[in-house]
Amino acid sequence: MHGLETLPKAESRHEARWWEAMPGGKVHCYLCPRHCHIGEGQAGFCFIRANHGGKLYSLGYAHPAALQVDPIEKKPLNHFLPGTRVFSLGTAGCNMGCFFCQNWDISKSRADQVRANYIPPEDVVQLAIRHGCPSIAFTYNEPTIWGEYVIDISQAAREQGINTVMVSNGYTAREARHDIYEHIDAANIDLKAFTDHFYARVTLSHLQPVLETLEWLKKETGVWIEMTNLIIPTLNDAPAETRALCEWVLEHLGPDVPLHFTAFHPDFKLRDLPGTPPETLHAARATALQMGLHYVYEGNIRGNGAHTYCPSCKTLLVLRSWHDVQQNYLQNGCCPTCGLAIPGRWTNVRGQAAGKRSLKKDATLAGRYEDLNL
Ligand code: SF4
Repeated sequence: MHGLETLPKAESRHEARWWEAMPGGKVHCYLCPRHCHIGEGQAGFCFIRANHGGKLYSLGYAHPAALQVDPIEKKPLNHFLPGTRVFSLGTAGCNMGCFFCQNWDISKSRADQVRANYIPPEDVVQLAIRHGCPSIAFTYNEPTIWGEYVIDISQAAREQGINTVMVSNGYTAREARHDIYEHIDAANIDLKAFTDHFYARVTLSHLQPVLETLEWLKKETGVWIEMTNLIIPTLNDAPAETRALCEWVLEHLGPDVPLHFTAFHPDFKLRDLPGTPPETLHAARATALQMGLHYVYEGNIRGNGAHTYCPSCKTLLVLRSWHDVQQNYLQNGCCPTCGLAIPGRWTNVRGQAAGKRSLKKDATLAGRYEDLNL
């Protein structure tokens, strides 16, 4: 457990969910498979869930440390409202310890080590509306560790017809998973490798809970899911591992869950490894398609691996350049050549439903948050 240099002020503390009191003033957080037992004045492994006075508090609540308007393709989601913008936020902390983290400046920081703005849930939704975003993404660090904030934002978002997206490592325990995803429309889950050796050594976590989250999302929820596998030279790039990963996806999730193979860039504790050669991504994508997966993408590189093709007649359906959608040839979510229905969310049903009501616009927001530089 980590000691807190400074305890949060009373007015900015938000009592957490998913915890129980233990003898001696400790608390047990059961949000994620780490099951931290946290002493008075300490925080859990993730830094942002802290015991104060025998109660667990969420230090990330209403304190995002990163805010940005991104293309939805950057999450990456290629089958969810393509070509739209997504209001994206993240906090300090993380419940994994990935040596290759590209957001380590916030994910490896305590709440009091980052510059965070105070933004209550309703204001996040208003900011998304102000910036023309039909969706809000919880991203940059692991969002389930600030699940209380995610839920409150998502509830406010639904009232306004705004969609919500999780970009998650999938390392979440059952109860919190259930409570959070009830409010979520789409998710990209990282499947960082397909060996527990990699998970234990390079992410300081375990593979099995991630697989359980993926299977649960696909079979028990209506959340639209896509997956990302970051390929790191020498650590998880063996063709046999890619084949095993694809076999698992086919057997447990089916062929229609989009899979993004993305390129590693040296960062954080893995600066001594080279970036992923494009050929490695091409080979992984070819393997996955050959094995029967229908929608396989290459990310963090330029090329044809970003486009969507019909798995039946091979017609080009969505033409992309990096994160831009240049052409979308889908007709009502179907291939224009053979008529095959392409799985995904192609129309903003939630926004259309809200459009029939009168949106609650917050006039008092004008003038606030001007310094966010979004
Ligand atoms: S969410 Fe944080 S405090 Fe809770 S069990 Fe996981 S790492 Fe520990």
